[in-house]
Amino acid sequence: MLKLKNVSKYYYQDGVIAEGFTKVNLELHLGEFVVITGESGSGKSTLLNVLSGLDTYEDGEMYINGEETSHYREEDYLEYRRKYVSNIFQNFNLVNSYTVEQNIELAMLTNGKTKREVKKEVNELIDKVGLKKYKKTLASKLSGGQKQRVAIARALANSTPIIVADEPTGSLDSKAASSIIKLLSEISHNKLVIVVTHQKKEIENYATRLIRMHDGKLLENKVIKKVNLDDEVKPKKINDIKLSSMIRLGIRNAFNIPIKFILMFVIFLLITVTLITNYASFKMAEYEEIDGSYNQYFTDTSDKRIIISKKNNEIFNSEDYSKIENIEGVDYLVKQDLINDYYMYLSSDNFYFSGTIMTKKIDKVDIGVMPKEKDEIVIIGNKDNWYLSSMSEDILKSTYRLENESTNRNLKIVGIIYDNDLLNYEYKLYLNDELKEEITSSLNHVSANIEFKLNNNYFGNKNGNYLDILVSNKVSDGKIYVKDNMNIYCKDYNCKNNILNITIDNLYYKDSDVLTIDEIITKDNANKLVDMNYDNINDVIFMSENDYNKLFNRGNYQSSIYIKDVRLLDDVDKKLDELDINYLNLRDAKYSEVEMVLQIIKIFKLVVVIVLVVTLFFISYFIMKIIYKSRNSYYVTLRSLGSTKKVCINILMNELICLASITYLCFLIFIRLVSKDIINFEYFKTLIPYVSFKEYLIVYLILLILSILMSYRYGRKIFKNSIMKNYGERI
Ligand code: ADP
Ligand code: MG
Repeated sequence: MLKLKNVSKYYYQDGVIAEGFTKVNLELHLGEFVVITGESGSGKSTLLNVLSGLDTYEDGEMYINGEETSHYREEDYLEYRRKYVSNIFQNFNLVNSYTVEQNIELAMLTNGKTKREVKKEVNELIDKVGLKKYKKTLASKLSGGQKQRVAIARALANSTPIIVADEPTGSLDSKAASSIIKLLSEISHNKLVIVVTHQKKEIENYATRLIRMHDGKLLENKVIKKVNLDDEVKPKKINDIKLSSMIRLGIRNAFNIPIKFILMFVIFLLITVTLITNYASFKMAEYEEIDGSYNQYFTDTSDKRIIISKKNNEIFNSEDYSKIENIEGVDYLVKQDLINDYYMYLSSDNFYFSGTIMTKKIDKVDIGVMPKEKDEIVIIGNKDNWYLSSMSEDILKSTYRLENESTNRNLKIVGIIYDNDLLNYEYKLYLNDELKEEITSSLNHVSANIEFKLNNNYFGNKNGNYLDILVSNKVSDGKIYVKDNMNIYCKDYNCKNNILNITIDNLYYKDSDVLTIDEIITKDNANKLVDMNYDNINDVIFMSENDYNKLFNRGNYQSSIYIKDVRLLDDVDKKLDELDINYLNLRDAKYSEVEMVLQIIKIFKLVVVIVLVVTLFFISYFIMKIIYKSRNSYYVTLRSLGSTKKVCINILMNELICLASITYLCFLIFIRLVSKDIINFEYFKTLIPYVSFKEYLIVYLILLILSILMSYRYGRKIFKNSIMKNYGERI
C-alpha cells in the first residue's frame, strides 16, 4: 500500500545541503510489521517522517494505495495523516494531566465520537495493553513502559491502517522495551506497523520485514515472514469533532492543571476587579462632584429627589398619585414637598441641632422610642458623630426650642437613629405625622410671593418688610388680628377695622383677598386673643384656618418623589413624561462653581482609566501567553490526532471561556455577599451602587472577547510550525 520509487530527501540548512536519505525503493503492505534499524544519523527518522506524511520529499515518487503524491500539498498530507497514520513517539507525547482513559478517549473524541459511544471500546483497549488497574491514573504517574502502552492504545483508538513508531523503546529499560515490541507485533496483523528500534535481539522474532539503513541508503530490505498481501486498504472514516466533545475537553482542560487554573483565575479576576472598580469609582466621582454643589431654592438636594408638577398646572389628585407611586423605581412620594426644604433649627441649653426633615417613613429607632406625641421627634445622624454616640442620654433628656417659628414651640428628642450615609456633622429630623402636617401647612405661604397692602403701605417678601402669617382658631373668617406695632400705618394710630389686601403669586396661581383687621394685639390682651406671649409675637398677622387654606392650601400643585436608586432617574423621568408630568431632577438642578475645572479633571481621570485598562490588558495577555506556552505539547498531540487548527482554537476557546465564566461567577457571588453584608468589604460596598446590570454584562463580554482573541492568536502561533518542529521544541 505504500511504495517508494527512487525517493530522496534533502535538508537545506544554512546554504548547505544535507542528505536525509537517497534513492530509496521500498514497498510496504498491510499486515506487515516492518522494523527499521541502523546507526544514528543513517536516515531512519527521515524515512519514517516521509512515509507518515510529516515531511515532504524532493526526488522520486511515493505512492499511497497506488496514488502519486509528488503533487501533494500541506492539506493533502494532513488528510493522508488523518485517514491513514497514527504516530508513536520515543517520548510518548501523552497528555500528562489526563488519565489513561482520557488519553485514549481523546483520539476517539477528536474523530467525532461522543464519550458515551467510546466507553466500551476504550475499556477494551486498556485491557488489551494490560493497564486495567491504571484506568484512572494520571499519565504523569505512569512508568515509561506503561506510558508507551497508553500511546499504543491511543494509536489503536485512532484506528488508522498505518502505525508508525520512531524509537518507541528508546527511553525504556530492556525488559519494558521487549514487552512493547511484543505488543506492537501483536497489533500488526491487520495493520501496517513500521518501527524504528535498536532492540535488535528480540525484534527478529517478530518482524516480518527487516530494513537496515546506512548513510541514507537501504543496506538491507529483507522479508522475514510472508504475510497476506491483501492490499485493499480501507482508510479511516474521518469525522469532525462534536461540539459537545469540544466543550467537554475545554472544561476538562480548564481544571485539570490546578496551578494553571489558579493563575488564570487570578488573571481574569484582576481584569474584572480593575475594570469594575475603575469604572465604579469614576462613576462615583461623577456623582460626588454633583453632590458638592448646591441649589439656592431647595434645601434637600438629594440626587434621588425629583420635583414634579402637572404639565397643565393643575392640582394632583389621588389618581395621579397612585399612578406616580406605581412607577417602577419610585421609593416614596412626598405630596406636600415643601417640608423637604424646611431646615429645622433646634436648641436646648446644651445642644444645638439643625437639619432637614426625614420624609421617608421609619419604623424603628436605634436608641429610645418612636415619636408618638406631637412634640416628640427623632434625630438621625452618623454613628461616628460624637454627640450622638456618647451623649445620647443627655440628648434624650433635654427640651428643645424650634427656632424656626416665631412662637415658642418646645420639642423633645425621644429617639436616635444611626445612618452612616449622612456626613459626620449632618443631621436629619424625623417628626410625628401630626407635627409634620402642622409645619407643612404653615409652610405653604413661604414659597409664594405675598404682598400685603395696608393704607398704601406695602409689605411682603419682595419689599423686605416681611409679615409672617399664622393661623389661629380664635380669628373669624374674613378677619385678621395684627400686633399693635402695625398701628403706625393707620389713621389715629389705630388699625382696627382697616382693610388689608393680600396678593399672592406663586408658580401655579395668582390670587388676592381682602381681610378686615378685627383685633389689635397688645401686651394686655395677647394671651387672651391668641394664646401667646406678647414678646414672642413679631411682625405677624393671624388669620382663620379657612382663609389660610383658601389662599394657600388648595391642594398640591407640586410634590416630590424619591427614587430608590440614582441610576433609575432617567427611566423614572421618562415614565413621568408619559403621565404628562413635569419633572425637575435635583441632581441636575445643582450649580457647581468649578464646572470647568471638574470637566478637565473628569477627562483626565477617564484617560488614566483607559490607559490603565489597556496596560492591564496587555500585561494579562502576556502572562496568559507564557502560561499557555507550556500547553504547546497538548495542542501538538491534538494535531497529531488529526485535529485541525479550527478545532484546536475552539477547544482552547472553550477552556478560556469556562475559566473566565467561573472567575466572573465567583466575583458576582462575592459582590452579592458584600451587598448583603455577609462579607464585610467597605470598599466594594460603596462602589456597588454605581455599577448597573448592563455594565456587569459589558465586563463579562470583555472577558469573553479577550478569551476569543487569545485563542485565535495562540492557535495561529502553534500552527505556524510543523508538528515535528513543535515536538522538537518540546524535546
Ligand atoms: P536517524 O533517525 O537514523 O538517526 P535522521 O533521519 O534523523 O537519522 O537523520 C538523517 C540525516 O539527515 C542526518 O545526517 C541528519 O543530520 C540529517 N537531518 C535530519 N533532520 C534534519 C533537519 N531537520 N535538518 C537538517 N538535517 C537533518
Ligand atoms: Mg532518529
